[in-house]
Amino acid sequence: MFVEVAFPISSFQTFSYKVPPKFLNDLHVGIRVTAPLGRRKVQGIITNLSQKSAFKGQIKFITGIIDRVPVISPDLWALIEWMSEYYVTPKGQVAKAVLPTNLSMRYSPPKHWYVQPIPVVDEKDLNRLKQRAPQQFKLQQIIWDSQCSVRVASLNDQTSNPLNVCRSLKQKGFVDLFQETSLPDVTGFTFAPIQKHVSFNADQRSAIDKMIPSLDSGKYSPFLLHGVTGSGKTEIYIEAVRRCLDQDRSAIILLPEISLTPQIAGRFKAVFGDTVALWHSKLTQAQRAWTWKEICRGTFPVVIGARSAVFAPVKKLGLIVIDEEQESSFRQDAPAPRYHARDVALMRGTIEKSTVVLSSATPSLESYYNYLKGKLTYLYLPKRFGGAKYPHVHVVDMLADQDESGKYGLILSGLLQDKIEERLKKNEQVILLQNRRGYSPVIRCFDCGETVLCPYCRVSLTYHRQDSQLRCHFCGHVETGKRESCIRCGSGDLKYSGTGTQRVELLLQETFPNARIGRLDMDTAKKGTRLISILENFSAGKIDILLGTQMIAKGLDFPNATLVGIINADLGLHLPDFRTGERIFQLIYQASGRAGRKDKPGEVVIQTYMPDNPVIKSAARLDMMKYYSIALSEREELNYPPFSWMAKVELSGPSANSVEKLADRISKSLVKKYKGLQVLGPSPCYLEKLKNQYRFQIVFKSLKTSDINGQNLHSFIQDNFIGTQTKFKPGKNKISIHLNPQSLI
Ligand code: ADP
Ligand code: ZN
Ligand code: ZN
Repeated sequence: MFVEVAFPISSFQTFSYKVPPKFLNDLHVGIRVTAPLGRRKVQGIITNLSQKSAFKGQIKFITGIIDRVPVISPDLWALIEWMSEYYVTPKGQVAKAVLPTNLSMRYSPPKHWYVQPIPVVDEKDLNRLKQRAPQQFKLQQIIWDSQCSVRVASLNDQTSNPLNVCRSLKQKGFVDLFQETSLPDVTGFTFAPIQKHVSFNADQRSAIDKMIPSLDSGKYSPFLLHGVTGSGKTEIYIEAVRRCLDQDRSAIILLPEISLTPQIAGRFKAVFGDTVALWHSKLTQAQRAWTWKEICRGTFPVVIGARSAVFAPVKKLGLIVIDEEQESSFRQDAPAPRYHARDVALMRGTIEKSTVVLSSATPSLESYYNYLKGKLTYLYLPKRFGGAKYPHVHVVDMLADQDESGKYGLILSGLLQDKIEERLKKNEQVILLQNRRGYSPVIRCFDCGETVLCPYCRVSLTYHRQDSQLRCHFCGHVETGKRESCIRCGSGDLKYSGTGTQRVELLLQETFPNARIGRLDMDTAKKGTRLISILENFSAGKIDILLGTQMIAKGLDFPNATLVGIINADLGLHLPDFRTGERIFQLIYQASGRAGRKDKPGEVVIQTYMPDNPVIKSAARLDMMKYYSIALSEREELNYPPFSWMAKVELSGPSANSVEKLADRISKSLVKKYKGLQVLGPSPCYLEKLKNQYRFQIVFKSLKTSDINGQNLHSFIQDNFIGTQTKFKPGKNKISIHLNPQSLI
């Protein structure tokens, strides 16, 4: 017998090996083996078994077997092959992205002690305990009140050695004491299980009823679940997952950023308990390896995670849900494979005959268009759950406001300030969005106009007040202390301008000295636990004003937050990218959705310098359909997706000149151009220099009217960009190929 083996190396090939008789019964597709490759022994994965081999040269034997159970199913392997071909990336490299780094690492999850009350206790015994062992009595009461099992370690603040006390209680027959293994501990990153009494409203019922036949049929069925913020999409996911489990199939839930959506994980834990695995970036490598293998064995039929959870090796996949499917975090840009988890999910659904639910309050224009074209079944939840009303939106024209008040450069308009005050008085909470972190994002010389740039990137350094640093948000470059003088003219007159979250925080502290303020951005959220504690404190009413970047705009559900303020709605609107408008619209719309999610009515204040801009205008009216129809006609006019297929080839390297030459060389050599192909560039990227690399790009667009399924563009890319190393001799420069790029900057 022969096997084909793929290795995690950058090559499009798999290799043939012979099988020694002793292994004959143990080999399956998806098992890892060791085999000689050149002079080394390398781990690879079996992709095929056969009686014959087409290879004519000398065939070596495999030398060892690593797994008993396949670590990749044939279906998952088929997905890898598709990705390799679609994203023009070697199979080995795709497999590397799919599998945890080192599957052989050992890990066994810790065991924890739990204690549970015994339901019937004799009053006399209890009284005796109270008198003789007050410490034990105290714990007994706490455990009794909890009415369910309690982790012994959680009693640490009651007594110095709760385990000993519990042991005595057990001896006396008051409690049960037992050990349980717990999953790799990411619970620091999720809320405790959130129990809820659920009864569906008519819209939810109807959405579920439309999904049930698909879930039961075991056919590929893609849906677009469009539910306004607060309409109760999470409960729909849960119902669909339940249906799946009933059929003995598994489910994957993809979230844009798992640490930002602890509430969803908390709901799932409450309903499905230990069948849920969290595929979390905070897992150590060993924990990942363990979780992967357990998922393979079927221990966790429900997997929740970010982008890469789309590869979770669940058995009999019945359902994939992509929550907030429009989020750009589902796209991986580096390293290759440069994939979009949404596209991968749809393909995986096709291969494994599953239901795929793309879900959002603000679907991506692509998915919305695909629904219009009948490629996705549309499920609509038009109302907030429980009759919560849409917030009332005020738009503040900042220019007019400043002309009126005579005060310029204000961060908070009079209206927003009044509204915040009002809410604080009523003990309600406020969420403020400022989508830029740091203190001052632009430092400019007053005399010559020079801005302070990162030495490695052609972008502004941001001043961070708290640790008194200048930081580059692209490459992480840090300079300690403020700059004293301009490097061009030597002037000491540097102006720290622009507004980041730290500046807003300081202003809020001055303006509302009694308010408790929490700030959430990449700087405060670096530690996952800090992030959770801020969210928990807000949830528990210990924070009055939650200020943050786009992190706070999504997924959070705080009934007492009744005012949302968007400090500068225009931020980012000038970026030269075809998706800019869509992104800003979604951000404003989603952030507004945080206001008034229960019975208390909500309000939103949007501050803008461009009240007539169509993005701002439709966002302020919360009129999604209107904006989407404007945006779609713009895209159609300019031949952008979803009306065309697009690919971007990015060239980068340490010398601008050399990159530019490479770009020219490539652009002149392009073969097999076809009618309907549009080529833009080569031209320098909008961010010309990042991390000391100069960047150029060539963009290809292919109209859907002539290239219905994108096949023309795809063959064009393959004809020109496979084997670029030998074709174009890029030297120190890098060539990267992006199919369906998310951004052109
Ligand atoms: P979305 O994700 O659509 O913005 P959520 O799923 O967070 O909305 O739901 C909004 C609120 O309504 C949550 O507090 C949720 O628990 C509650 N809710 C939604 N559906 C139900 C239901 N059928 N029964 C009880 N509570 C529900
Ligand atoms: Zn200067
Ligand atoms: Zn930089």
